[in-house]
Amino acid sequence: MLIKRNVLEFVLGVSRKTHPKEFTGLLRGGPEIIEEVLLIPGSLFGENFATIRLDMKPIDPSIIGSVHSHPGNSFIPSKTDLRFFNKTGFIHLILKYPYKDIKDVAAYDNMGNRLELIVEE
Ligand SMILES: [Zn+2]
Repeated sequence: MLIKRNVLEFVLGVSRKTHPKEFTGLLRGGPEIIEEVLLIPGSLFGENFATIRLDMKPIDPSIIGSVHSHPGNSFIPSKTDLRFFNKTGFIHLILKYPYKDIKDVAAYDNMGNRLELIVEE
């Protein structure tokens, strides 16, 4: 999976600003690339990932997955994360503290299997 560098920088920056709370959003793009982050109306920064209001999710076929941060130093998806992954697209990013660079970002498919993530320059 490819991710645009500006998208990577954006989610790292928002995660740092939101810390120690969680940042959550949706991803837009194509079958092989993450191009944009969408903040969901009704899900304020810092709310827990589990509280995202899926009914507020816009009907948008370009939404390919989700992104959220973990204030701890693990980016292993929780059971709640996996349930959410299943409902929201095919690519999911989790960022872990200290949200420094791509080494603090993990990509998963909707079953929770780790995927390779490559920055598009
Ligand atoms: Zn999580």
